[in-house]
Order: sequence, then structure tokens, then C-alpha cells
Amino acid sequence: MLDHFFDRNGHLDDLGVSHYVDAIRSGKTAELPRELVAHVEACKECKKEVLRLHTVMADIGHDEAATNPKFDKPAKLTGKWQYYAYWTAAAVALFVLLGSLALYLDTSTDEITVADEPRLDQPLPYGPEETEPPLIEDEEPDERKAVDRDANEREAVDRDANEREAVDREPTDREQEEQEAEDRRAEEMLRDMYAANFEPLPLYESMTAQNFRSFGLEIVAPGVGSEIRDGVTFRWEIRYDDPLIVTIIDNQGDRVHQSTVSGNAYYFDDFPAPGLFYWRLETQESLLYVGKFTVAVE
Ligand SMILES: [Zn+2]
Repeated sequence: MLDHFFDRNGHLDDLGVSHYVDAIRSGKTAELPRELVAHVEACKECKKEVLRLHTVMADIGHDEAATNPKFDKPAKLTGKWQYYAYWTAAAVALFVLLGSLALYLDTSTDEITVADEPRLDQPLPYGPEETEPPLIEDEEPDERKAVDRDANEREAVDRDANEREAVDREPTDREQEEQEAEDRRAEEMLRDMYAANFEPLPLYESMTAQNFRSFGLEIVAPGVGSEIRDGVTFRWEIRYDDPLIVTIIDNQGDRVHQSTVSGNAYYFDDFPAPGLFYWRLETQESLLYVGKFTVAVE
């Protein structure tokens, strides 16, 4: 089964990447074959592939990818992202096919199993809680004693039920804790994997936060190095009448977005992935300013 995850050059093939992303998304990274994890941790190229696919899957939603290979919602996906989305659907389908085939031929496969659903549909081990016995006043002592005895018995039954419940709940709690630990591991791994996106780009670092031409330029937002969660508003004051160009660059130096802006503010929120980004403010002729900010992982 492992051979299916690596190509001839020892890198992850489509299936390997798909498998890895599946594991992250279902919080089952602990069940990944060790060779797969070791390779991705060491190989920048494969890490990048996993990240790309993970971003696409996060964008479109796992269920949609699984049930709708045509993707009704490709609005956010353009160019290579769209390519990856279509490719993923094919890879996932193939993976499922190979997985079940392997399972059929050999039960000792590395296939990832889907997390157990919490069993909410199971009947409770005891009946509905009984109501307190009514308080009866002015009754004969004997009768009251009998009522008390009844109450005691009921209490004992309740206590038994509670003990049973405690025993029943124990493994569920443990399962939940394990699942939470899994989620934490997946989250840490994700943060580790995105770490490459946060590495500074030396050329841009050296230009950050300088005013290259004055025009009385003052950058209002974002602050240098600020952390963005949803979107970012670029805002500035300047004595210059022509439109300015806002360009967003990722930490590889690739252009993410460019817009010509006539006002003194611009909003953008369509980031391909978390990471460190730089932005440039320019006239047609010259560079005015370079800033930087980060887009948070969660
Ligand atoms: Zn590799």
C-alpha cells in the first residue's frame, strides 16, 4: 500500500498528498504511515503540495469535494487552485477505490478509518428519572415509613443507574480526550506546515516601512507586521491626485493581487493561504511604500 503514496523519485504522488490532507482534515494524522510523515516533514516540495491541497480542501469543504465532483462553488478558486480542486476529486475517488480494493485483498492495510461518530442513538441503560415521591402530610407513621422505604429503594435504584452511567461515560470521555489530542496534533502540524509561509523575504524585508517618495505620504493601515484574520484594509493619506497601485506579494515574492485605486483606501480578503505578505503602494512611475502583515492560520 505504501508504494502507492510515493512516486518514482521518492516524493509523494497525488494519492500520497490526498491521503495526507485527508488525515489532517479528519484529525487522524497519528494513523498516517510513518514513512509518509517523515518524508513530508523533511521535504519542502511535498510539504508545499500538501499545503496547497489542504488550502483548496478547506476552501471548498470536504463534503462538497466528496459528493460533488463538479464543485458548484468554484468562485474562490482560480487558475492552479481550480486545477487542484478537480484533481483532488479524482484523486480522492481513486484513493477510495484503491483503499477498498486493498482492504479486500489484504486486511493489514494502512488505510485511514473514519472517526467514530458519538453514539447518541443508543438507549440509556436506565429508564427516565423518577419523580420525587409527593410529600404527604398528616399520615399515619406506618404509612409514612412505607413511603420512606419506597423512596429509599427508588434512591438506591437511582444510585445504581448513576453508577452505571459513570461506567458508561468513562470510555466516551476518554475517546473525546483522544479526539481532542488528535485535533491538537493536527493543528500543530498544520501550523508547522504553514511555517514556511511565514518566512521573511529578504529583499522585501529590507524595503519594508520606508517612504520612497514623499508626496506627504502617511500610511494609516495596516500597521507594519500586523496580524490579519479576515481581510485587510489599506489606508493612506497623500498629496497626489492620480490613482495609485496596490500590489500584494506573498513571501515567495509572487504577486497575489494588484489593483489600481483612486481613493485612499483599499480592502482585500482573498488570500490563498495563511502566511506573511508584503504590499506595495506605487504610482505609475515609482514605488512609494512597502509594508508587511501576516494572515493568521486560524
Ligand atoms: Zn518530497
